[in-house]
Amino acid sequence: MRFDLEALRSHPGQRFHLDGDLSIPDLDWQGEVLHVEGVVHVGAWASWRDGEVELRVAVQGRVHRLCARCLAELVERVDSDHVLDVLPEDTAGRYLELRPFVEAGLRLGLQGKPLCRPGCRGICPECGADLNHEDHRPGCHGGGRSPDPRFAKLRGLLDELP
Ligand SMILES: [Zn+2]
Ligand SMILES: [Zn+2]
Repeated sequence: MRFDLEALRSHPGQRFHLDGDLSIPDLDWQGEVLHVEGVVHVGAWASWRDGEVELRVAVQGRVHRLCARCLAELVERVDSDHVLDVLPEDTAGRYLELRPFVEAGLRLGLQGKPLCRPGCRGICPECGADLNHEDHRPGCHGGGRSPDPRFAKLRGLLDELP
């Protein structure tokens, strides 16, 4: 998917529109590679204004993630719509390729800390039990009885992980 920059330049101020599906199986995200299921639905609007391209991109896709609390796999539905910066080097050629902007739109739509379910109970930092499926292991005080302040601190650190 791409816009013809010659057409945009020769009709300043006019809005051009593209609709379609793009296949982006892998998405780089903060040092990880996320799998994108199926195709990404894309709507894009571009116009030439004051010597620059004004670009708006709407994307809908399904991205495989891990729960921020218990590491269970989940599929996050991304639905984002943004005006994106187009740099002069993006418009150096004949065409404006949309793929990098679609990837940027997906990244902007991703949650920082996706959860497998509302209120996921996560993994106990003391005994390692997956609290969605099991109780604390014998001897663990993570259940609330006399919580050790060291573990409260560890829990805080876990919460701060991206
Ligand atoms: Zn979870
Ligand atoms: Zn525990």
